[in-house]
Amino acid sequence: MEERSIAIDGPAGAGKSTLARMTANHFGLIYVDTGALYRTVGLFVLESGRDTKDAKAVAEMLHDIKVDMHYDADRRQRMLLNGRDVTDLIRTPQASLAAADVSAIPAVRAFLLNMQREMAVRYDVVMDGRDIGTVVLPNAGLKVFLTASPEARARRRYEELAAQNVSITFDEVLHDIILRDKSDTQRAVAPLRVADDAVVLDTTDMSLNECFLWLCNIIEERLGL
Ligand code: C5P
Repeated sequence: MEERSIAIDGPAGAGKSTLARMTANHFGLIYVDTGALYRTVGLFVLESGRDTKDAKAVAEMLHDIKVDMHYDADRRQRMLLNGRDVTDLIRTPQASLAAADVSAIPAVRAFLLNMQREMAVRYDVVMDGRDIGTVVLPNAGLKVFLTASPEARARRRYEELAAQNVSITFDEVLHDIILRDKSDTQRAVAPLRVADDAVVLDTTDMSLNECFLWLCNIIEERLGL
């Protein structure tokens, strides 16, 4: 139910997905990673060789896309693109930029909106993204906006990618973060912004555990979980 849902928004690399997953596990909620939906659409357009910024072409392609998500035995969200599991493929830097491009297209946002809302109707969710508190779940019981400096976010993302053996430099990751911030905050439809009733946490100088404890406290306080 939406009133029992938790919305976590913020820029790329602020720690949303890690913290949302930890919180969902801790309180027995379902974690919904909405960025994975945009990444899946972005991957489809990339693979087709079309321009991910071409709003008209991308809108027409939506007729050929079926995006599904399900949860595996470890409660991890898996993404299916026309029946094919693309969970790992959507994590490349190219897919990140493609996601940022297609997410600025109104038809793409409309295409993915109901799927996100239906998840919150069916389950008590921790949902992370850019517009969860402002557009997707305006009545969420708790809205959190996580942020951190671009350098701190790039450092975390770089360490994550290096651990997965993705060959990329710190400067490339920082460049990607700055580009995505620009595209996420400046797009006309559902731009990244702090919801009026959101609680803001700047995680620049905080450890993961400190952020997690802060989040658990506020959830217990606001939702009585
Ligand atoms: O969260 P993640 O980095 O996986 O998101 C990939 C891209 O999808 C973001 O850069 C953003 O442009 C877009 N996105 C969005 N709205 C959401 C989630 C993600 O526009 N709710």
